[in-house]
Amino acid sequence: MALLEINNLHASIEDKEILKGLSLSVNAGEVHAIMGPNGSGKSTLSYVLSGKPDYEVTEGTATLDGVDLLELEADARAAAGLFLAFQYPVEVPGVATMTFLRTALNAQRRARGEDELSTPDFLRIVKEKAAHLGISQDMLRRGVNVGFSGGEKKRNEILQMALLEPKVAILDETDSGLDIDALKIVSEGVNSLRSKDRAMVVITHYQRLLDHIVPDFVHVMHKGRIVRSGGKELALELEASGYAAYGQDAA
Ligand code: ADP
Ligand code: MG
Ligand code: MG
Repeated sequence: MALLEINNLHASIEDKEILKGLSLSVNAGEVHAIMGPNGSGKSTLSYVLSGKPDYEVTEGTATLDGVDLLELEADARAAAGLFLAFQYPVEVPGVATMTFLRTALNAQRRARGEDELSTPDFLRIVKEKAAHLGISQDMLRRGVNVGFSGGEKKRNEILQMALLEPKVAILDETDSGLDIDALKIVSEGVNSLRSKDRAMVVITHYQRLLDHIVPDFVHVMHKGRIVRSGGKELALELEASGYAAYGQDAA
């Protein structure tokens, strides 16, 4: 069984079916891109997998490393190794980034039945990972996302991912609103977290992110299903043709 195995997934919100029989297998070590026109259900897929409330799964299965994700609460899914990047784009003025990261990491450890990290251990780990990603100590002291540039917000999320060490990371529209320099920073961070034990699912409407995060497989999502799969060349083909074949003009 693949690390992330999704079979015939159907999901609704407010009685409207959005996912209509989606299947996807992602092995450890692989990076998959999901592309598709606006409204095809890409974000819905990431929300359903991460356990966001209000979504109702009506049919199908989703497992991570053999664990039934759909049976678990959102925090237990995170503890099982699922990470949805960029799920906290909000500003949290009163909370220093460092504190926020520590809370996230300790919540994961508690859910796994592990002890919380001591302050010195946490500081050592966060400083090491931050340095590796080129994140300044100053940024760690500031309120979460307060006054952060687009690139800094994304870097903060990558640091969160580096700390939580997920088995499967889903990045939904990581590239939206980033200038080319920020895009490179984010891509380098994501690439540095690629590993043979980890899989990544990169959701994007545009091809340009995939120049920097080169996927092993590309899938086209349309009307709640994967309708086409191929190698990285499929992204280039979509860039050229747009989504006209799927009822939407090129962006
Ligand atoms: P994508 O990320 O591919 O652009 P989404 O998953 O955001 O697509 O949306 C898929 C469809 O679900 C769209 O038709 C959208 O209007 C609908 N949708 C999303 N959220 C809600 C909601 N809270 N209530 C009703 N419909 C929704
Ligand atoms: Mg959209
Ligand atoms: Mg979306």
